[in-house]
Amino acid sequence: MSRIRFNALQETLHRSPLKVVQNEKRSTLFGQNVFNKHAMQQYLTRSAYESVMNAIEHGTKIDRKIADQVAVSMKDWAMAKGATHYTHWFQPLTGATAEKHDAFFESINGSLAMEKFDGEQLVQQEPDASSFPHGGIRNTFEARGYTAWDPTSPAFIYETTLCIPTIFVAYTGEALDNKTPLLRALQAMDTHATAVCKYFDKNASKVSATLGWEQEFFLIDDALALSRPDIQLTGRTLLGHTPAKGQQLDDHYFGTIPSRAMSFMQDLEQECMLLGIPVKTRHNEVAPNQFEVAPIFEEANLAVDHNSLLMDVMQKVSRRHKFKVLFHEKPFIGVNGSGKHNNWSLTSDNGTNLLSPGKTPMKNLQFLTFFVNTIKAVYKYEELLRASIASATNEHRLGANEAPPAIISVFIGSQLSAVLDELENVTKGKLSPQEKTDLKLNIIGKIPEILLDNTDRNRTSPFAFTGNKFEFRAVGSSTNCAIPMTVLNTIVAKQLKEFKIEVDALIDKKGLKKDEAVFNILREYIKDSKAVRFDGDSYGEAWEKEAKKRGLSNNKATPEALKVKVSKDTIDLFEEMEVMSKIEIEARYEIDLAAYTKKVQIEARVLGDIARNHIVPTAINYQNTLLENTKNLKEIFGGDYKNIAKEQIELIMTISNHITQINALVIKMEEAKIQSNRSIGLKLAENYSNKVKPFFKEIRFHCDQLETMVDDNLWPLTKYRELLFTK
Ligand code: ADP
Ligand code: MG
Repeated sequence: MSRIRFNALQETLHRSPLKVVQNEKRSTLFGQNVFNKHAMQQYLTRSAYESVMNAIEHGTKIDRKIADQVAVSMKDWAMAKGATHYTHWFQPLTGATAEKHDAFFESINGSLAMEKFDGEQLVQQEPDASSFPHGGIRNTFEARGYTAWDPTSPAFIYETTLCIPTIFVAYTGEALDNKTPLLRALQAMDTHATAVCKYFDKNASKVSATLGWEQEFFLIDDALALSRPDIQLTGRTLLGHTPAKGQQLDDHYFGTIPSRAMSFMQDLEQECMLLGIPVKTRHNEVAPNQFEVAPIFEEANLAVDHNSLLMDVMQKVSRRHKFKVLFHEKPFIGVNGSGKHNNWSLTSDNGTNLLSPGKTPMKNLQFLTFFVNTIKAVYKYEELLRASIASATNEHRLGANEAPPAIISVFIGSQLSAVLDELENVTKGKLSPQEKTDLKLNIIGKIPEILLDNTDRNRTSPFAFTGNKFEFRAVGSSTNCAIPMTVLNTIVAKQLKEFKIEVDALIDKKGLKKDEAVFNILREYIKDSKAVRFDGDSYGEAWEKEAKKRGLSNNKATPEALKVKVSKDTIDLFEEMEVMSKIEIEARYEIDLAAYTKKVQIEARVLGDIARNHIVPTAINYQNTLLENTKNLKEIFGGDYKNIAKEQIELIMTISNHITQINALVIKMEEAKIQSNRSIGLKLAENYSNKVKPFFKEIRFHCDQLETMVDDNLWPLTKYRELLFTK
């Protein structure tokens, strides 16, 4: 077994950075493989172009004739760039992306052939949907689903395939993907945010959510990664003793990017440019061999597609560079895990960032309105927001001591807190002219200056305001951003809807002026949602206690965290906002639970196998060497051998003890699995969480102890030192 490890290590000795040719400027490459506005203007007729732009901007339908025209132009464009196939590209509930390639090629009468792609093929396809997760929505009868073109996310060419972003729904209409609910949530946001925007800007006609994600990941030499069955099958290390050196010297963060990783990044960035993914930032992260890439933010639906695409492209590019990318939230214990910060804001159609203060008191009141409503929404739905990022993999990160906790709180900094504190004292009802002037000049008028030097960023907060956007930091690195983005946009949209109703009531029934009404409602919201605001250290135990007192949820285990996804409040919320139906919600919940159970189940199997079939035999092997050595010592030194072989004898006994423990624990874990399997759904997931998973740590402990004792030459698993410090 140890041969695999040493062969892999041998292979890494000959690695050198792949040469990446960089002849063209990034700006020249940008969007070359995207059927974007520019390409559409070139290839489409005027009426087709206008029809597509209308669909993008106002959600209007594209009729079949126009779709035919668009399809033909798209095909011509794609073929001119060397594409031979097309695919509907979608995001099923597996968490990954899916594609099935069809050639443009078609034969006519068996002898002639031509390249064909028409409106029907562009607009709708019927992939064999029966093997995608559906949570019971499609019974075997109606096993059909279809994909439908999303014109708001432009088609692109990857390798030689024209990829058309689509939604994926059942024939009965229910969404079977991550994009559909997101689009509905963004629609709800547009409706309700625009209505609120009109208080401040009569001409506002559209509000879009923006998203800028920051993707963290590990880059591990692929020979080394493949030498570990746990990394190969679960994406993380299930055992491995922490190395003498980890991240304690902080020498990796923002350091020089190692040369092999650098050439991977350059290659990746060029691919991203061609695909129109506006990646801008790259740097080393805190843990050894951990990195981050981040783009310029975009409209949320497009940004989500770009993140999913990036993750695919990263896997492909990494192979060329002999790396394996790990997106797992916690691939290694003892060093930092990986997250995917979701920077989120709202923009109106004239380009105003609604979470950025402006030059006039009115703009600042607009800022405060969206700012306070977001905080209120997060407060009211904190448990749902937590659930939106719950998974078997993110569970290792949230609540563990280096990452954001499982408690959702909002950081806004001391200066904005002071502003909100002042606003709590606004008079009920009508305001005196003096008070109005004071508010405008001295409180909200000072906001822009405050934000300029609001630099005390609290890195421990799961949801932080960072100057002109909120940063949702608890999102896991492997998550599809659509899921948290659907929840965040839905809850804020719902909150804005309520806000509008309350403000209008004060104007209509109490005769308050618009700004008086806004101040009055904001005052109440600020008071109501205080419990969710926390600027201190979110990692400490003190916060857990304090949060409990404040009534905030702290669901560390995934099955527990997921429960709220099917609560009455949640169903009411999603149905009211027309984001998901009860059937869709329940199906997703079922899929989430099953995914959790399966992941823990696979880990249990892999761990059991490694422990008993790799570690124990290796330990016995080494023990035999020690026994042989002891026997020989006895032969030569006779009665004195016990003194001479003292170390060996102790080690033999210690090893025996660990072997016994490992065997006993693995058997117990097996039994726990068998017992757990008698349940279904939530109970099954809970059993795996409470009865199976606790064995992981115990089994690992004994294996990791053995690692420190057994001859390095025999050890079968590539060690942490080798995985983390091979560059
Ligand atoms: P960091 O959090 O690493 O210090 P920044 O705060 O500078 O980095 O920016 C992180 C991300 O925030 C970037 O991807 C950027 O595009 C995004 N971002 C900036 N402004 C907005 C916005 N208005 N809406 C959404 N994302 C934004
Ligand atoms: Mg960040």
